[in-house]
Order: sequence, then C-alpha cells, then structure tokens
Amino acid sequence: MSGRSARPCYNEDMSEQSPLLVSACLAGVRCRWDGRCCSHPAVVALVEEGRAVPVCPEQLGGLPTPRRPARLTASGENVLDGSARVVDDQGVDVTASFLRGAGEVAALARLMSSAEAILKRGSPSCHPGEGAGVTAALLARRGLRLRDETGLTPAPAIVPASLGVKCWLAVEGRPAFGEGLGSLLEHIARHGSIVAAAAAMAMSYRQAWGRIRQAEERLGLKLVESRAGGRSRGGTALTSDGARLLESFRRLEAELGAAARDIFGRHFRGTGSPPD
Ligand code: SF4
Repeated sequence: MSGRSARPCYNEDMSEQSPLLVSACLAGVRCRWDGRCCSHPAVVALVEEGRAVPVCPEQLGGLPTPRRPARLTASGENVLDGSARVVDDQGVDVTASFLRGAGEVAALARLMSSAEAILKRGSPSCHPGEGAGVTAALLARRGLRLRDETGLTPAPAIVPASLGVKCWLAVEGRPAFGEGLGSLLEHIARHGSIVAAAAAMAMSYRQAWGRIRQAEERLGLKLVESRAGGRSRGGTALTSDGARLLESFRRLEAELGAAARDIFGRHFRGTGSPPD
C-alpha cells in the first residue's frame, strides 16, 4: 500500500471508529480447514481490545471444520462474476458455500460500518490483493480497505505498565463495600463462619466483624446472619441481600475491568502497522 489515504485506521484513535473485520484464524480461532489457527499477536490484541471482530467466511458459509482444502479455478473476482469456481481437493464444487460466506461477511461489514479488514494471506476466501479470495474480492467491491497480516506488529506500549483497577461503593462519600469486604464475604459463604473467614484472610475476628458491621450500617443492609445449631453447631451465612450485593459487585468489577483495559489499550497500546 502507498499514499496517505491507504494508511490503516487502526493505528489511530479508534474510540469513535467502527471495528475492523479480521480473519478469525488470525485472531486465534481454530477455524482453518485443518482445524487449526494461525494466530497473530497484533490481531489477537485488536480483538482483545474490542477494536476488531473476527469472522470466518468459510464457516459462515456453512462449511464444517475441519474440511477439505479448497482452491479457486481463477480469481475471487471471477468467482463473483460466475466465470470461475471453488473446488475442494476431491473435486467437489463448494462455490455456493464460499459465496454465501462472502455475503455474510459483507453484510456484517455493512451492519458494523466497518471500513477496513485484515485478512489471511493465501486463503481462497480471505487473501486480499492480487488474486484475491472470494470474500476479499467482495469486500473490495464494497469499498473496504484490505490488507493481510504480513509485517503487522503490535506497537510497543508507551510505558512498560499494565492497568490496575480498583472500585468500591461509597455512601455519602464514605467507603462502604469493596474488594476486601467482598473477599471476606466469600470466605464466610465458603466456611460458614466469621472466625474461619477471618483466619483465612489473616485478620482478627474483631477486625472482620467490625468491617461487616460498618458496611451494614452504611449500606442499611444486613449482610450476614447467624445459622442455628444442629449437627454443624451453628455458624454464619450470607443473607440474601448480602449474597446479591456480592454477586452484583463482582459483576461490576469484571465489567469495569474489561472496559478499563479496552480504554487503556486504546490510549497506551495502539496496534502498529508496517510502513506504507
Ligand atoms: S476462511 Fe479466512 S478466516 Fe476462515 S480459516 Fe480461512 S483464512 Fe481463516
């Protein structure tokens, strides 16, 4: 590729841009004809950061994995025009599946307003450029900018750091529930006892109970309750409110973490491209 207009957009701030399409096998999906993948670290990073969507046209066209390897009798352009076919190594005509897969990928590109794709070199579906595969030929007709994975490298991080994310719930500006109390409640649920949970977290019973009481007061919720004796000689369990709060908090942490890593990736670890 040459010229400014051909510069891949994934090297710029993608926050307002539509996702790229990428060949799924480059993103680590085992969708190749032989049931393997050919994952490329830069493509995997793009998908992990939510900047690219993996697609496999041959699977979308209904072909199984693994499947017989296939070849074009001429270019993908010719297949689109009906003057060439796709046949597998036993001579079975799989043109219809290749065309269906190409159509599915083109429809996805339109739905997501994708303007660019990174496609696997040498594939009868995906190969972009000279002698393009069937899907690549259709995407090129639809105006997408295409390139293969050759020379693609993840850009080095701006600083050698990863992102740490911590969150907590506060009531009137005072911390009420966070990671530490979440772990304490998980231990109580597991061991059925505040004593055992405190020991597992290397804290005193008094500290553990104090943290629970403080959270209950600030949140206006009962988080734990005593269980009657019997053979287990009683113990402590989470209330239904405590269990619900814990579950929601863990989901919040996970979603915040994923969103934060995505933002971090965009600002600190753009994925580089080779020189034009
Ligand atoms: S069709 Fe494309 S995405 Fe699917 S395995 Fe072949 S090269 Fe990879």
